[in-house]
Amino acid sequence: MAASRYDLDRAALAALLAGEPAYRARQVWDGLHRRAAEPAEMTDLPAALRTRLDEALPPALTLVAESTSDGGDTVKWLWRLAGGDRVETVLMLYPDRATVCVSSQAGCAMACGFCATGQAGFSRHLTTGEIVEQVVRAVRRARPRRLSNVVFMGMGEPLANYDATWAAVERIHDDLGLSARSITVSTVGVVPGIRRLATESLPVNLAVSLHAANDALRDELVPLNRRYPIAAVSEACREWIAATGRRLSFEWALIAGVNDRFSDAAELAAVALPLRAHVNLIPLNPTPGYATPGTPPARVRAFRDRLRAHGVNATIRRNRGTDIDAACGQLAAGSRPAAVEVVRRPG
Ligand code: SAH
Repeated sequence: MAASRYDLDRAALAALLAGEPAYRARQVWDGLHRRAAEPAEMTDLPAALRTRLDEALPPALTLVAESTSDGGDTVKWLWRLAGGDRVETVLMLYPDRATVCVSSQAGCAMACGFCATGQAGFSRHLTTGEIVEQVVRAVRRARPRRLSNVVFMGMGEPLANYDATWAAVERIHDDLGLSARSITVSTVGVVPGIRRLATESLPVNLAVSLHAANDALRDELVPLNRRYPIAAVSEACREWIAATGRRLSFEWALIAGVNDRFSDAAELAAVALPLRAHVNLIPLNPTPGYATPGTPPARVRAFRDRLRAHGVNATIRRNRGTDIDAACGQLAAGSRPAAVEVVRRPG
């Protein structure tokens, strides 16, 4: 089978275009990336070549379903990949810009019980081209807005698929032309991956999904904590900050009665302050396999205020796309764990 459209590198594209004038490879590469164009739209190419490229460079993502929410401002795509696996991408539109949330794996092996992707289990890594193509689709759909941000916060653990993820980051930066500062990689705390990020030359943002600031609770919520406990994650983050000079952020999904007490805020402050980390708070979104609800809004604000009183920089993240299962932690690509009771909060 032909390599997918964005899984070809420049050399492979040049080989495909052997016999054409030398400038063609660059022209097609720029068309695919800078202009986010499909071969058929490359009207600066001879028609026969367009047709040939269309066949030789098939897209990796086949649209299964598109859903929209927030009056059309949140778009979720369900894609089918070669081999049949399914993944989702979420595009958030703002008046003059847009953010895309991309998947890095079909499923996830991290098994966080409160996350729909974790509940579904791991299927496979995405390729670089499959990740890049999600961004290209977003660039096209966002027009006339500029795609301003790419966040690796969709399905999967990006640092468990490091090589493909990093190659995608480089392609998004070098070829699609986004700045490194507008790209965010989110991780549950894969320590070797954070260390590797510290050695990269592109200064992307790092978000760590913390959710608990003591090991007993975090062992339960984020099973990878048993392998890389909070002290080890903090140390790797410290190295990353020292190497990049970038600001770290912690994600904290507030779960009623579980990690939203003032004692949790105090523990979180103790971890966040020495790293001068920014904390992003979000009430837990409902998922089929996890019964405990998210923290109510008033309590979310009280938790934020408590963090601020400790001197922590904390904000509440606006939630988008909950009604189409497009919000944080809700991406399951149509898979529904069979053995668990479906628990949905009304509203
Ligand atoms: N595996 C990486 C990338 C996914 S990012 C990571 O976990 O960081 C998805 C974000 O949504 C993570 O911060 C995750 O902890 C959070 N999340 C998962 N389930 C959620 C839920 N039910 N409600 C709100 N946030 C959730």
